[in-house]
Amino acid sequence: MKCPHCLTEFHDNRIETSLGRDRDGEWVLLKQDCPACKRMVLAIGAYDVGQAQNGSFYRQGQKQAYLVRPRVANRPPPPPEVPATFAEDFREACLVIGDSPKASAALSRRCLQHLLREIAKVKPGNLANEIQEAIDSGKLPSHIAESIDAIRNIGNFAAHPMKSTSSGEVLPVGAGEAEWNLDVLEGLFDFYFVQPAVLKKKRDALNAKLQQAGKPPMK
Ligand SMILES: [Zn+2]
Repeated sequence: MKCPHCLTEFHDNRIETSLGRDRDGEWVLLKQDCPACKRMVLAIGAYDVGQAQNGSFYRQGQKQAYLVRPRVANRPPPPPEVPATFAEDFREACLVIGDSPKASAALSRRCLQHLLREIAKVKPGNLANEIQEAIDSGKLPSHIAESIDAIRNIGNFAAHPMKSTSSGEVLPVGAGEAEWNLDVLEGLFDFYFVQPAVLKKKRDALNAKLQQAGKPPMK
């Protein structure tokens, strides 16, 4: 199975503990240990129960098991190059999205705002203006510029001015908005943190070769 914490594949090692019967079936706790991230994966499931002629109960097929820990697994964790402050908001926005898209969108908007302020160096204002400034700077590849522009449009900041003024506020979100915000953050993480790290690694490797050959490093 794939670990819902870290998305690494591992061999099924489930241990099942019976919790007892009620009118809906026999409830079990399913526990698996992920050898990669050393976290437990816990689920609650139920078997249909039949009764034999001698009165004893027996298990039939298993009903769906509900994941208890982690609550949801919908996206890979942010790449290790992403600084902790951004990674934390992103991870939390992913975790709560199933229960509360509103809370998720509030977290992802906050994460976007921090990114724009701290990495894109926009003037702190409201999120709508900050997005505009980042787009106007011309430093973003066009597909990323368009995707953050869409955060404003989908979020309908004009109808919900609070969304653009206080990004941490919990406000109504349209269908798909919370997911879209996370998609956009993934793109920004790649652009701001992952790609530069990849380039640096390649440049360092090339410079090491140049140095061995007695040539000056590339700038
Ligand atoms: Zn794991």
